[in-house]
Amino acid sequence: MDFFDRAYFFDQGLRFECQRCGRCCTGESGTIYVGPEEIAPMAAYLGMPSERLIENHLYPFKGSYSIREDPNGSCHFYDQGCAIYPVRPVQCSSYPFWFSNIRSEKSWCALHRECPGIDQGRLYTKAEILERVHRAMKF
Ligand code: SF4
Repeated sequence: MDFFDRAYFFDQGLRFECQRCGRCCTGESGTIYVGPEEIAPMAAYLGMPSERLIENHLYPFKGSYSIREDPNGSCHFYDQGCAIYPVRPVQCSSYPFWFSNIRSEKSWCALHRECPGIDQGRLYTKAEILERVHRAMKF
């Protein structure tokens, strides 16, 4: 059966609305995959050449790059909010609809501890959720 046709616990959709608390951008260290096609838009948004973006803010990861972190674990681009929000990588824009988070109802419910946006705001349809999961599968 196709990935998009199966039954899931979220067949009726899931609610999510970012509360801009910054928890997922700060704290525990992690990797933030930046695909090759995401570099130029980020550099343009910041008004710098791609080479400078790579040199100052990224490091090699999985055939492309990841965003550097500050010593306290915060994303390099977090400054009382995301400094590259309109062009943030898919790994960020698809959160919290990652496979690891929607693989079971238990995983989704456990996210309440980390993200106050879970079960708030607008309803994402099953199709929207699966589209985001699919996009996020590259990292
Ligand atoms: S933890 Fe959730 S509510 Fe807070 S910034 Fe991240 S996505 Fe938004």
